[in-house]
Amino acid sequence: MSEPKYPLLGLSRHRMEIDGEGVTTLVAGAGCPLSCAYCINKNALRQAPSYVTAAELYEKTRIDDLYFRATGGGLCFGGGESLLHLDFYESLRPLCPGWRFTAETCLNVSPGAVRRAAAAFDTFIVDIKTLDPAIYEGYTGKAPGPVWENLKYLVGALGPEAIHLRVPLIPGYNDEADQDRSEAALRKLGLTRIERFSYVVRG
Ligand code: SF4
Repeated sequence: MSEPKYPLLGLSRHRMEIDGEGVTTLVAGAGCPLSCAYCINKNALRQAPSYVTAAELYEKTRIDDLYFRATGGGLCFGGGESLLHLDFYESLRPLCPGWRFTAETCLNVSPGAVRRAAAAFDTFIVDIKTLDPAIYEGYTGKAPGPVWENLKYLVGALGPEAIHLRVPLIPGYNDEADQDRSEAALRKLGLTRIERFSYVVRG
């Protein structure tokens, strides 16, 4: 079997408490199953990535090894959909003992992928968007499918503390009442790390 490679779009070092806990390097990758109307990464997602092996990514990021281990930080995989590259993380993880692995994800991937991801990552930042299926599909271009079941699985596998939720106000698609309904349903699952914010739409 060929060595798994990651479609790297870029690295951003020394992100404090933005992309997970501690000092974190954001590792942006290509590819996403959704087409969100206000995606801020659309241009980046269209760029040709450079493909790196696990050893190559480790070499590029190990300069911050001490910071990662001293602060409980590590690598946060985002950009597009992080859970598209599970073979890669399984190769990378043994090279980086003591680093936190965080996944930024929409969870609109197969239940099998989420089960593997629960073993590969310590923390998840879930861009849930909305729990209203019609609003979700109108905004992302895709039905929510297994998102809710995947979230429930993660809560059971890792506990609510390991999961940070983003619940946006999406101008033209939802409203505060929709945010309230989404937040209430998430709290019923025991989730408390819920960030509400508004997308800024530039004309
Ligand atoms: S899930 Fe994120 S990366 Fe994918 S289209 Fe939506 S905003 Fe863009």
